[in-house]
Amino acid sequence: MIEEIAHNIYQIRVPLPKNPLRELNSYLIRGKGNSLLIDTGFRQEECRRALFDALHKLNVNHDKLDVLGTHIHSDHIGLAPEVVGHDKKIYLGLEDFRWSTSDENEVYWKLMDYRYLEEGFPREELQQLFSLNPAKNYGPILDLPNYDYLLEGDILEVGGYNLEVIEAPGHTKGMLCLWLADKKMMFTADHILFDITPNITIWPNMEDSVGTYMDSLKRFKNFPVEHALPSHRETGDYFARIDEILNHHEFRVQECFDVISNFPGLTAYEIAGNMTWDIKAKNWMEFPIIQKWFAIGEALAHIDYLLQRSQIKSVQTHGLKRYYKMK
Ligand SMILES: [Zn+2]
Repeated sequence: MIEEIAHNIYQIRVPLPKNPLRELNSYLIRGKGNSLLIDTGFRQEECRRALFDALHKLNVNHDKLDVLGTHIHSDHIGLAPEVVGHDKKIYLGLEDFRWSTSDENEVYWKLMDYRYLEEGFPREELQQLFSLNPAKNYGPILDLPNYDYLLEGDILEVGGYNLEVIEAPGHTKGMLCLWLADKKMMFTADHILFDITPNITIWPNMEDSVGTYMDSLKRFKNFPVEHALPSHRETGDYFARIDEILNHHEFRVQECFDVISNFPGLTAYEIAGNMTWDIKAKNWMEFPIIQKWFAIGEALAHIDYLLQRSQIKSVQTHGLKRYYKMK
């Protein structure tokens, strides 16, 4: 469960029970004074036990522990407030910091519910969802003075290393990766994952998340990375994986465009139902509701990409948005 990756750098696998991601890879950079923990797991007992056990085995002094949340998803920062030293920091990217400390976060679920209804998501399914979504239940306490933000190019000195902050918008607007030039090592967070595709969805604070993500991925080809350290599952060939993910989104954009061209006037809910998904269910109607919720978000992000480039348009009738190919 704990693996030493390099001198003073450890990977801690934190289980994510009942979650298709299975585990979170948390990384500890242990220093003589301060140490830094990158990501934590959900605010949930199984995660808490695994993380605290590992930190105990590694003799980490909690009073001197800073936390870096690569982004605001609850599997990454759920336990940050419990594990951070009393006077130490929980670092986030600027945009995720803004998001987590503003009203946007509070109204997010209401905005999303409204948006999903408009995009054809059935009201009954949305109500059932309320109790299921881990982000609503296992997220961190946000009202603390420990939160602070980092910007592109900031350097964190810890464990004898200089870690450079690299902004990687797309999966969230404020996603951060860390570049360790000495070791040609990139902590890729959820920006580049190897055996699952990072979920790209719609955000009230980010237009064109797919386009933004693809631009950001292309930029990551400029780093001479030899070791990629992702937040979930295993590592792999960094450059080949970037190309695969770029191809995946080009394919998804095309698939979305083809559905809209072939069946004009569908809602996003119906468009998603006509796309291909790597989920074990006989058909769209039998998808678990939570998976449907993620699927719609992903479909909408690709629809947004086409809207931004004037390849399709939306028309609102009777409170529902319907999509058509541009003539
Ligand atoms: Zn995430």
